[in-house]
Amino acid sequence: MPVRSLLAVLVLTLTGCAQPQPVATTDVTAPASERLVLPEDVHSYARPAEARVTDVALDLTADFAAKQLHGTATLTLDRAPDADEVVLDTRDLAIEQVTTPDGTPLTFTLGAADPFLGQPLTVTLPETGDRIVVHYRTSPEAAAVQWLSPDQTTGGTHPFVFTQGQAILTRTWMPTQDSPGIRQTYSAEVTVPTPLTAVMSAEMLTPEGEPAEDGTTYRFRMDEAIPPYLIALAIGDLDFREVGPRTGVWAEPSVVEAAAYELADMEAMIDAAEGLYGPYRWGRYDVLVLPPSFPFGGMENPRLTFATPTILAGDRSLVSLIAHELAHSWSGNLVTNATWADFWLNEGFTSYFENRIMEAVYGAEYARMLESLSRRDLAAEMADLPEADQHLFLDLDGRDPDDGMTAIAYDKGAAFLRTIEVAAGRERFDAFLRDYFDRHAFQPMTTERFLDHLDAELIRGDAALRARIQPEAWVYGPGLPDVAAPVVSEAFARVEAQAEAFLAGTAPESLETDAWTTHEWLHFLEVLPDGLSAEQLDALDAAFGLTETGNSEVLFAWLRTAIAHRYEPAFPALRDFLVRQGRRKFVLPLFQDLARTDWGRALAREIYREARPGYHAITAGSVDPVLGWEGG
Ligand SMILES: [Zn+2]
Repeated sequence: MPVRSLLAVLVLTLTGCAQPQPVATTDVTAPASERLVLPEDVHSYARPAEARVTDVALDLTADFAAKQLHGTATLTLDRAPDADEVVLDTRDLAIEQVTTPDGTPLTFTLGAADPFLGQPLTVTLPETGDRIVVHYRTSPEAAAVQWLSPDQTTGGTHPFVFTQGQAILTRTWMPTQDSPGIRQTYSAEVTVPTPLTAVMSAEMLTPEGEPAEDGTTYRFRMDEAIPPYLIALAIGDLDFREVGPRTGVWAEPSVVEAAAYELADMEAMIDAAEGLYGPYRWGRYDVLVLPPSFPFGGMENPRLTFATPTILAGDRSLVSLIAHELAHSWSGNLVTNATWADFWLNEGFTSYFENRIMEAVYGAEYARMLESLSRRDLAAEMADLPEADQHLFLDLDGRDPDDGMTAIAYDKGAAFLRTIEVAAGRERFDAFLRDYFDRHAFQPMTTERFLDHLDAELIRGDAALRARIQPEAWVYGPGLPDVAAPVVSEAFARVEAQAEAFLAGTAPESLETDAWTTHEWLHFLEVLPDGLSAEQLDALDAAFGLTETGNSEVLFAWLRTAIAHRYEPAFPALRDFLVRQGRRKFVLPLFQDLARTDWGRALAREIYREARPGYHAITAGSVDPVLGWEGG
């Protein structure tokens, strides 16, 4: 590099260091010049510029018979000097009364109900004071709260309940300002029937619980301000096993040993993540393995990831999901999408970061396979999406934010960051990201602010670099931009050679599959063409035990192949898989595949009738329209 340009870089670097950006605040009582202006969130009724919730203190009792949580939420507010009311988000909550902390009743009104936004709860504030107490109970149908009967659990003896707040469901179990830009600390006292245990996305102050009149009370505290969708609760027959100094697993007693074995690498993953993006700022990192109806792979509730039991393959082959949830401790939980239109800032960053953790722990070849699978998922899903929904930044006005939870946010977002990495060089991009997390820790982030930050701190007027990245094409344009960094997996090239050999007549037993990981199997099944004969499918199943596999990802891929070929020997396993777990990623595509065929629709409805009672509302809500289900 010529000396002059080296000097220019030095000067730029020094200027960058000497002028750190002022850290904006969301405190409405701060001077306007220091305030972070939040974009309007079309998915919240809150008016945070007038009065903003800063802390939620819950005192709740879980009533399994009535399928209700009831008690109080004490909200601490930042009030603008002239604010005389506060607007909260609620949905399906029975509001009994609102008072001051000393019991003086306050006037409140509930507005008209919108199907997914719910109802605004407007409370007239007292002359002075910054706390209000809402007395309420949840509905048995609260969308965030799933009450499981004992036979929906693995143990089969005790009931179970868990919450899932993302995207806008926290308002169905507590009255608060339910917008990801409105960060709140929280604490909770939760009384549960003995001998059940309550766990939350917070520090557990009473691990043993305290005896109460009507059960056992557990107390929790989260001192870091988090977006309300990350407040989470689960209650069940739970055991704990330590995995490392700051890591462990919670699960039903019959599952906890398998979970601890499967997740043994968690501590190494945290070390790898810290090496990349700076300190883990949440204290402990535990994983709660939920009963099989959990609709998602995982949910990154801080300090306590909620995870599907479908990752328990017995051979640690599906732990990239934990790398993903752990990565959210930086992207999502630390720096958070300000609105759901910015969702890619949570998921694209996290998917990229997940891949980097997997590379650090399991090697580059493994990470390239994951990346290659991610690109393929993206291409498949993009083909079905309208162009406007292929932008990273979405227009979700008047829509359910779940509409934006597609592969675009995850896989196109990750491809964007990977492209920046390749264009700028890994070392420089890593330094940029680490600085980004440090500067914006515990803050909401908008797409526009990120693009400004990218220009100011990484691109820095370098037109050639900008041309290799093309940020606007990614964020405001459809499809995968031409500049996207290519993905090459040599391991997958070897898999393709084996698939060709099979198609050319080599017996499955003679294929070179011994060292294959889950990802190689997934790729093998994916590259097999349509139109295989029943004999070919029989031979594959006999050689590799695909119908019997305990690996949920491989089984899922095989079942899709089976449906595509109407391979009926696999259908009992298909039915069993759809009935025994409710992870939407698996359930929805299988029902879609069946519904697309002329012969499969009736079968799909028959299986769904059996499976649906065990599903979470989120999964059922996705499948219902596919099968035209109206309670029949
Ligand atoms: Zn995620």
